[in-house]
Amino acid sequence: MSDYNPYQNLLNTLDEAAQTLGYEQNDYEVLRHPERELAVSLPIRMDNGQIQVFTGYRTQHSTILGPAKGGLRFHPDSDENEVRALAGWMTIKNAIARLPYGGGKGGIKVDPKTLSQREQERLTRAFVRAIRPIIGVEQDVPAPDVGTNPQIMAWFADEYSALEGRWTPGVVTGKPLQVGGSLGRNEATGRGCMFTLKSYLAKKGKTLADVTLAVQGFGNVGSVGSLLMHREGVKITAIGDVNGCFYNPNGLDIEAAYHYANANGRSLAGYTEEGMSMISMEELLALDVDVLFMAALENQLNAGNMEKVRAKVILEGANGPTTNDADKYFFANGIDVLPDVLTNGGGVVVSYYEWVQNKAGLYWSEAEVNDKLEKNMKMSFDEVWDTQEQYQTYPRLAAYMTALRRLTETRNLKGFIG
Ligand code: GLU
Repeated sequence: MSDYNPYQNLLNTLDEAAQTLGYEQNDYEVLRHPERELAVSLPIRMDNGQIQVFTGYRTQHSTILGPAKGGLRFHPDSDENEVRALAGWMTIKNAIARLPYGGGKGGIKVDPKTLSQREQERLTRAFVRAIRPIIGVEQDVPAPDVGTNPQIMAWFADEYSALEGRWTPGVVTGKPLQVGGSLGRNEATGRGCMFTLKSYLAKKGKTLADVTLAVQGFGNVGSVGSLLMHREGVKITAIGDVNGCFYNPNGLDIEAAYHYANANGRSLAGYTEEGMSMISMEELLALDVDVLFMAALENQLNAGNMEKVRAKVILEGANGPTTNDADKYFFANGIDVLPDVLTNGGGVVVSYYEWVQNKAGLYWSEAEVNDKLEKNMKMSFDEVWDTQEQYQTYPRLAAYMTALRRLTETRNLKGFIG
């Protein structure tokens, strides 16, 4: 849908959350406006000698709770509107997880698959130089997102540190272990999705071994999340990415698919296993499964296809996969949407642990990281669930209400000019 505006979707939910809490416009108007937005031109010498100019963005939606925090995306559709919404969602997400962070996001309008490794490195380093005035360990801390990865974070940390004249790993998270990363960070978003689904099912008297699931997207979140849930007994009958969807009503071999995708640049193209068939993405989203795990991009479940959904639960691994229209429709039809700002918070929670470890110069075991993550995710889930029960509303609204309470309280304590 061409008129889809993700930031407007965010504002609609924010307004509704404020009204439900009985807040006045004055109480939260500040959150409707991103604090700082920067657009930069990035001239890169390509491998063939030609100069190509890319556009990048970094938006700091809020620093009420601490330094801006959120990923950096490389995607051909990335633009200021998308980055603004993604930054705003980080503000809400970080508040729900009780992290001492505001919300930020960055994007470069590029298809990273069309770039060589060296071009990706030059682009990353150029971006660091361009946004350097507004980032820093206590200012704004990027991380991986769609189209970026630990290697890109390593170049990021290296370039920033060179400019600073001292090793500054805490300026970016999601780094490789050898470059100051944290154990468990790479799996954290998928693992957090699993914890959220587990908490939800427990409320319904069920376990992960009781449900069937279809997943859209097989990047970091989709593939790791699927693998971990598969290992806990979830029967995954369909997986799909832009290159194709694979279906087996008896359950797919997720270990095999995971290893295949990892060995093929995170793509499922050409994947095959016994007993499976190919289906379209439209069919995948309409499958009769218990859970739809949305792990690709924004605006995937909307007014155009929401009525076809037969799943009972939507688990949002991606940011913004469900529009306002679809949210309302699912609520009215008894389909629970476990919202992005709660469900996929595991990534930034472990980013916080990475940042803390970088600051302390002291590193934790993987068990310690995973244990802390599980406790954090459970605490957030319970708080959102209680709010949802209390107000008899839908999970996304309850999640925004949880965040809004924290953000307005802190904003008011800090005070305003005049
Ligand atoms: N890009 C991830 C997200 O959307 C992680 C952000 C981070 O770790 O700062 O939550």
